[in-house]
Amino acid sequence: MTTDITIIGAGLGGLTLARVLQVHGIPATIYEAESSPAARSQGGMLDIHDYNGQLALKAADLMEEFRAIIIEGRQAMKVLAPDGSILFDQADDGTGGRPEVQRGDLRQILLDSLEPGTVRWGRKATASRTLDDGRHEVTFADGGTVVSDLLVGADGAWSRVRPLLSPATPQYIGKSVVETYLFDADTRHPVTARTVGAGAMVAHSPGREIFAHREKGDTLHAYVGVAEPQEWFAAVDFTDAAGASARIAQEFGGWAPQITALITDSDTPPVLRPLYALPTGHRWDRVPGVTLLGDAAHLSAPNGEGANLAMLDGAELAQALASHPDDVETALTVYERALFPRSAQAALLEPGDSPQSDTGNNAVDDLIAAYSREEQSR
Ligand SMILES: Cc1cc2nc3c(=O)[nH]c(=O)nc-3n(C[C@H](O)[C@H](O)[C@H](O)COP(=O)(O)OP(=O)(O)OC[C@H]3O[C@@H](n4cnc5c(N)ncnc54)[C@H](O)[C@@H]3O)c2cc1C
Repeated sequence: MTTDITIIGAGLGGLTLARVLQVHGIPATIYEAESSPAARSQGGMLDIHDYNGQLALKAADLMEEFRAIIIEGRQAMKVLAPDGSILFDQADDGTGGRPEVQRGDLRQILLDSLEPGTVRWGRKATASRTLDDGRHEVTFADGGTVVSDLLVGADGAWSRVRPLLSPATPQYIGKSVVETYLFDADTRHPVTARTVGAGAMVAHSPGREIFAHREKGDTLHAYVGVAEPQEWFAAVDFTDAAGASARIAQEFGGWAPQITALITDSDTPPVLRPLYALPTGHRWDRVPGVTLLGDAAHLSAPNGEGANLAMLDGAELAQALASHPDDVETALTVYERALFPRSAQAALLEPGDSPQSDTGNNAVDDLIAAYSREEQSR
């Protein structure tokens, strides 16, 4: 294949694309805004599913490396009522299809697998345009440009490549999450550590939810979901950590203190993350020589699928290109034919669902149903 492939963004999607291309002997270059691999903490756990993320890792020939970073026991799942009573409690017996890893570890095995120099760090794309000869030019914040035969936008929610294909922009979904961490939880926050348990815990009431995970060691990481407009959050002063925590905790009045301690006992200042999504079913007409993957293509409300899908997109795009070395447009058509319905279907999933399961409206009921089904199917 003689096409010069330019990937914008070294997230899990862009890295998987480059890796699977290289497995097939196809070179590619990634341009990444961050200045180095260590520029930003990659915090957070990801469950990597056997029906999408793991398929990508197989295509990347990285299953052995993946197994080595799995944190055993973290597929345990608890669903609590706001008063702390247990609605559902499932231990991790090691046979589940969603092993948990730290996002940073996963990113690292992908980075380590690439040929040296594949990622050009500190190159933030600011704009892209189509040239008269049909190729695409990307401009970077440092004033440099690159012209490419095949340009792939793997640059996440606020993609600078997407405008070549679609006018869509992410819209606020009416909900934000506040992120907190409790460190050395077994000794410093033992009641809350027991409440979260060995893996993940979720508790939910209308418009309010707390999802927490036991990460590496005994760090508890929580996403506190509050369904309010952005103006509501603008009235909370997040520069005052204690005040902001108290204000968010106030929204969980009547909840068991061992759950709300995930807000009030945070060892880090609460971090506000407004949630955005592209329209469900976002798609575009084929434009020669350019496509998107991952959040750039189908950003949706977090439901545990986004990173998995980004990786599968990257793997499938690479495989399509490897299968049609002399016909990039056919490869892109094949890739997008699978991409569009898959991402539209995934956007409708609730956390804990899989594409094979029914979806409903109540996240907790869905979780219980999904995990019960998983239990029964063993
Ligand atoms: C709170 C929260 C929790 C989540 N939890 C989960 C989960 O448990 N499981 C799961 O599967 N998914 C989860 N997701 C979704 C997941 O994080 C994303 O879907 C996934 O990271 C998308 O991967 P990506 O490679 O497409 O984009 P990204 O991970 O966003 O990577 C894009 C890359 O492009 C770079 N970039 C951005 N702009 C530019 C630019 N202009 N020029 C150059 N480079 C650029 C960025 O620095 C980044 O490295 C969660 C999301 C949120 C918000």
